[in-house]
Amino acid sequence: MQTSFTPEQLRDPDIAESNRILRTCVHCGMCTATCPTFLLLGDELDSPRGRIYLIKDMLESGRPATEEVVRHVDRCLSCLSCMTTCPSGVNYMHLVDHARTYIEDTYARPWPDRAMRRLLAFLLPSVWRFRVALIGASLARPLARLIPGRSATAERLRAMLRLAPAHVPGPSAMERPGVFRAQGPRKGRVALLVGCAQQVLAPSINEATIRLFTRMGYDVVVRREQGCCGALTHHMGMRAAAMRAARANILAWHDEITREGLDAILINASGCGTTVKDYGHMFRQEPEAAAAAAVSALALDVTEALWRFGYRPTREPPGLTVAYHSACSLQHGQKVTAEPVALLRRAGFAVATPKDAHLCCGSAGTYNILQPVIAGRLRARKLAALEALKPDLIAAGNIGCLTQLSGGAVPTVHTIELLDWMAGGPQPAAGGAARGA
Ligand code: SF4
Ligand code: SF4
Repeated sequence: MQTSFTPEQLRDPDIAESNRILRTCVHCGMCTATCPTFLLLGDELDSPRGRIYLIKDMLESGRPATEEVVRHVDRCLSCLSCMTTCPSGVNYMHLVDHARTYIEDTYARPWPDRAMRRLLAFLLPSVWRFRVALIGASLARPLARLIPGRSATAERLRAMLRLAPAHVPGPSAMERPGVFRAQGPRKGRVALLVGCAQQVLAPSINEATIRLFTRMGYDVVVRREQGCCGALTHHMGMRAAAMRAARANILAWHDEITREGLDAILINASGCGTTVKDYGHMFRQEPEAAAAAAVSALALDVTEALWRFGYRPTREPPGLTVAYHSACSLQHGQKVTAEPVALLRRAGFAVATPKDAHLCCGSAGTYNILQPVIAGRLRARKLAALEALKPDLIAAGNIGCLTQLSGGAVPTVHTIELLDWMAGGPQPAAGGAARGA
């Protein structure tokens, strides 16, 4: 693709990077066939190619983002299905990340939109703030139907209440900072990102991770200074907040790497994993560039680590069929596709994959709150494909997807909870529900 940035514009490293990306696009349009928003809405401007043109024009003009550009970029899920399809290797992720920051810096959103984004950025990355908000939302759930109107704000408030769980679990003792010691002969040392929203919504995921890796002979380090990975604010274009969150993690883990050494940094929420693996790029012009690159190089999804470390089940096969939902951040963002399925099969589950497995479920970070109508349509489509497999359980490796797909006919569960169960851990609640226990 031809671009026409001025030499002065190209002195900005972010523009120079986007220029390089834009020039790799040959506008063949192959990506449109696998873009969920193009498939639903049928508008070229809601396809990757259309968005690439809009972003190119916006950046070249140097003028503030327009309402039209914002509308179509906001509708992008950042699912990265287009990157898997693109034959030219266009790095759409870095391009749209830059566009979102540019929009945040130059576009004055209507105040209800701005207020909602600020509220999400304030609540979600903080464990205690999110827990308090979630308890309030779970109590207010029955009121969702009473919110009047069809405005974007009304739809978003209804979506927030609908997504709140009926019951908010209490804090887990296993997430306190410290070192969880390996059981038996020690094979290595790993750090765990315990995250933010996930540990409030489903502390059982971190508990299963710590149990399984310590049982396999690994010390699991939970650093006090680590917190949100920064993805939630990063995907809303709030660069300063995202970098602040990421920097705290980088410094904590780099300190651990240099003092005692780490074999891996474990991530059990694939949305976070895609971001942590990108820290090296995010910090390429920062003083922490080398530390960030070292952290990214050690970041592994839990299923990648289990595969490398030689996971072995100890229980008899449970006789259950699992419909495996491959989160976009795992399959498109990190290209981790084979390990989760192979591990579930090794653990004794029959694994089925749904039709159109490459398409997003509509969760996408805060997307299911900010774009509830499109997210709802994608959820219905994904649930229908999964339930058509007649599974006992739906498994996924990302809390966002699990939240989005809960409430259907089939219980949802994180992959790590099933693997922990089959290697001697307790039966997850969803496992009991599937067996009618
Ligand atoms: S498939 Fe790749 S090269 Fe073709 S239009 Fe899409 S982004 Fe551009
Ligand atoms: S990231 Fe997903 S929604 Fe966005 S353009 Fe690519 S395929 Fe479409």
